Parts: sequence; C-alpha cells; structure tokens
Amino acid sequence: MTDIRLTNTLTRQVEVFEPLVAGQVGVYLCGPTVYDLAHLGNARSAVNFDMLHRLLRHDFGVENVTFVRNITDVDDKIIARSIESGKPIGELTAASTQDYLDDLDALSVLGVTNMPRATEYIAEMIAMIEVLIAKGHAYVASDGNVLFHVPSMPDYGQLSRRSQDDIIAGARVEISASKRDASDFVLWKPKKDDEPASAAFESPWGLGRPGWHIECSAMSKSILGDVFDIHAGGNDLIFPHHENEIAQSRCANESAHMAKTWLHNGMLMVEGQKMSKSLGNFFTVRDLLGQGHRGETLRLALLSGHYRAPLDFTQAKLTEAKNRLDSWYRAWNGATPATDVPAAVLTAVRDDLNTPQAFAEIDTLKGNPAELAAAAQFLGLLNLSPEDWFQGGGSADDLTADAIDALIVERADAKKSKNFGRADEIRDQLTEAGVVLEDSAGGTTWRRG
Ligand SMILES: [Zn+2]
Repeated sequence: MTDIRLTNTLTRQVEVFEPLVAGQVGVYLCGPTVYDLAHLGNARSAVNFDMLHRLLRHDFGVENVTFVRNITDVDDKIIARSIESGKPIGELTAASTQDYLDDLDALSVLGVTNMPRATEYIAEMIAMIEVLIAKGHAYVASDGNVLFHVPSMPDYGQLSRRSQDDIIAGARVEISASKRDASDFVLWKPKKDDEPASAAFESPWGLGRPGWHIECSAMSKSILGDVFDIHAGGNDLIFPHHENEIAQSRCANESAHMAKTWLHNGMLMVEGQKMSKSLGNFFTVRDLLGQGHRGETLRLALLSGHYRAPLDFTQAKLTEAKNRLDSWYRAWNGATPATDVPAAVLTAVRDDLNTPQAFAEIDTLKGNPAELAAAAQFLGLLNLSPEDWFQGGGSADDLTADAIDALIVERADAKKSKNFGRADEIRDQLTEAGVVLEDSAGGTTWRRG
C-alpha cells in the first residue's frame, strides 16, 4: 500500500503519516459556530477534510477511525443573534445545527464519529482551566476574566511561527488593563448584565462562559486523549485559535504535542475576490442549491483545486464541474462499481489529498464504467442514478422543483398585492427556464416544457 503523505503545518514538511497507535487514527476538525447558514468557506473545509475521512476509512477500516467535528453552541455571535431575532439560544443553535448537517448531506460529506457540542463539555473546560491556574499558566484578572498567561509557555507560537511582536500586535484589540501581558487570552469570561441567563454557566469564578479556544482543547482531550494524530481546520484558524489550543492543551497535559499533524485548507475566493457581504459575493450553500446547482456539482467544484491552495470559486468552475459530472454519469451508465478503488486514484489522494490529480485519473477511465464508478464514489461523487442525474433538473440553468414552487407562491402573492410587474417577471423567468405554468380556478400547476 502506498503511504499517506500529508503537509504538516507544524513542521512545514510533507510527512509520511503514521498513527500514534498502529492501526488506529484520531482526527479533530474545528466545526462551525451555529447561528447562521453555512457559507462556501465553511463548506470548503468540511468537504476537503471529508476526503481525508474517506481515505482514512478506506486505508484503516471504518471502525479504526475516530473523526471528531465539534459544534460551537456558545459564543458572542450566538447571543447577539438570539437577542436580535428573539429566538431562545437553544432553539437558534438546534435549528442552525440541523441546517448545517442538511447542507453537508447535500455535499455528500460523511457523518462523523463524534459531534460534541461545547455546552455539553463545560465541566471538562472548567477542570482544564483549574489545572492551568494550578500550574501557573493562567490567572484570574481583576475584571473577572480568567486569562492564559502566554509568557508562561516559552515555546508558544510554533504553529504560526509568529514573533512575540506580531503576537502582541495581533492581540492589541483585546488589550485590557487587567492583562499581565498584552498577548494573554481569555479562558473564561464573566456573564455581562445584559446577557441572557441561558448563556451563562456556574464556575469557580462565578457565572460566565468559556472562551472559544478552550472548547476544542477540552473536547479533543475528552474524546481523543491528550495527544492525537491529526488536527484540521481552515488556515484562518492557525492564529490565534489553533496556536492557543496548543498552548492550553500542552500546558495542562504537560505534553510535547497536542496533535502530531496539523492540516489547514486554503482560503476560498469568489470570482477573484475575498467573499464578503459588502461586496455582494457572499454565498451560502443554500443559495447555490436554491439556484438549482446540485450538491455533487458544488462538491466537485470545491475539490477541483488542491486543499492547501486558495480556491477561486467561479461560475466557470461550476459549469466545468457540471460538465465533467455529465460526462462521468454518461460513461458510467449505471454499471456495477468495481470492488477496488483504482490504484492511480488512491495514489493521488494519498499524496497530500491531491483531488485534482484524482479527477484527472477518473477522466481517463471513461472506457471502464466499473472502475470509473468505484473511483468517483470513493471521492463522494456519482451518488445518484444516471436517470436521476439527467432528468431531475441536473442542469445548472434548471430550477429545482422547490425553487419553482417558491416562485409560483411569490407570483400569486405579487398578483394579490397588485404588483403585476413582478408577477410578469416571474412568469418570464419560468418560461425562460422551460417551465410551463397553467393557471386555473384551483391555482397554478407547472410542468417542464
Ligand atoms: Zn477549534
């Protein structure tokens, strides 16, 4: 079997992956903060590391891989959204978690072994903070915050390789008079007067809630142990989040490592620009599915570049992904997949998750439908029957049945409020998409023309 080789951010080297315990692999991937729909950047991280999950399950066996992806369900943004929307925190985070899982399902991301929610591990976080205080790595500040004292760890900063000056500059936004050092960061913060009681937990330091970084240190320790194989996330998490996770875990556990291998995916851009709400190029997974793009098309587009490189997500890339899938579905035509994944495809994925190379290999298998299917399904693609792919509104230009229904409801509402311009506009849009409307006394029915 070819070795799995991975680029370890900690050493900046491509390394042959060897688990700490032979034959057993533990992975921790930082999951979402649940208050809003997942955007394409969130989707990229989930899909890229789903490829790692699939490879590890293939090579080590499903029962030998523990893949943890957490849910952050206590956070400033969650509290703000709860106050703004009038929805209780528990209701907001439960609905948002379900939306996230539905989106991942559409993108054919495998279910994880463990999905710990931060609010279920408060006791473990408190225990870890108490250890850090006892060992002289943390202190209770005069304003009630419990802070990690960065200078207490001489080799802090190895993952991001930042100088002490950079760290202080980066921490400037958080500088408060009560900090012993500008780079110290929060482990536990006291409840503010205007915050709801449901966001606060009892602790030895009074009512309050954990800082974000301590969540992952406590949950990974509980499930995977003091030191585990792989920690993954987006490269925007390297500093401060992952650096601070390492500081907390290593100092509390007195270990040389938190995780042996650190993997980070590159940033996602849209049409050459950073995705942002102000630029109007901010897309959620839901937006693109609603426009009629298939989950598999989005998945292939997200895996079309190497995970470590920045990915420019463009309309052209979506069209390319759709065309490639069309050609694979056509070549496959429903043949029984081969038992083994073709060696060239496995070799590509074992080589630092080189999915672009794996796709190029699949392109060469069009004369061998059984091998093509085995390869594509290993990559989480060709999950539909060819009939469903071609007849179920597979074209990027086609609207999904749900989208058509929604437009028909909107058109009826527009007519009711005498907004005939909008009603006509919707009819034109549907006509252009090949949808024929039939109005009758009983309402509007539709069929594809
Ligand atoms: Zn984390």
